[in-house]
Amino acid sequence: MQIIRTSADLAQFRREHTGKKIGFVPTMGNLHDGHMSLVVLAKQHADIVIVSTYVNPTQFGVGEDFDAYPRTFEADKHTCEQHGVSAMFVPTTDVIYPSGVEHAPVIDMPDLMRRLCAKTRPTHFQGMASVVLKLFQLVRPDIAVFCEKDFQQLAIIRRLVTEFFLDIEIIDAPIIRELDGLAMSSRNQYLDADERERAGKVNVLLSELRRELLSGTQYETAMTNTHRQFDELGQVDYLELIDKNTLVPTTDTINSVIVTAVKIGKTRLLDNLVV
Ligand code: AMP
Repeated sequence: MQIIRTSADLAQFRREHTGKKIGFVPTMGNLHDGHMSLVVLAKQHADIVIVSTYVNPTQFGVGEDFDAYPRTFEADKHTCEQHGVSAMFVPTTDVIYPSGVEHAPVIDMPDLMRRLCAKTRPTHFQGMASVVLKLFQLVRPDIAVFCEKDFQQLAIIRRLVTEFFLDIEIIDAPIIRELDGLAMSSRNQYLDADERERAGKVNVLLSELRRELLSGTQYETAMTNTHRQFDELGQVDYLELIDKNTLVPTTDTINSVIVTAVKIGKTRLLDNLVV
């Protein structure tokens, strides 16, 4: 497996693999089984797979966990080797932001970037969209795999591909969970034992809400009940039923998904369940 750090080396790698279908899995590193499920999917759709591990400063707000975010290059390298990844792209910030982070162009999609996570992380998606576009331009993959766990992110990336006429097929992957249903995340390691136990209830409550909505319980009643139970787990940023494509709140279960972000202790957890 090759470790690539610069755009020139990436271009060289691409030349050496002319004619091959390239699959791409962008990550922030600290790889877990969830990330690796994306690699497995990428391998099914492509000849070779490139994984990037880059903790992108522009998608973290002031006071967020940019400094604390786990950086585990050696372990990630080992994991990628074990999973038959062809190359890891491990850029520095100089490579990604050649004019400096403060001069990075801003991509804005007001209809998708003002709601849900953006209420507490107002600039997160602008930073995310910038870095994904940059990574796409550098790697130039044929396909790229993202997980449905970051539901809003996935909608924004699909829009990015449409708006910038990118010739990249976006493949969405299901959420990989721990045994109790907690969605795997690099941030789960911030949880202490008590918080970890509460975190395991997030998905259980989403499943119960889904069951209630489908069995005809009135929308308001079901949401209020579930919200009350969520309040016991932590600080709920949002708990909403939204349209899968537009992310607009709905009371209709058709084509919808329940999405939530809840802060347990200092750890913000995301989860969702298609209805
Ligand atoms: P991150 O490293 O958190 O930026 O995530 C990189 C990619 O891995 C994104 O497409 C995430 O949605 C995906 N991912 C994160 N958690 C999981 C999970 N539990 N199962 C599958 N994919 C995941």
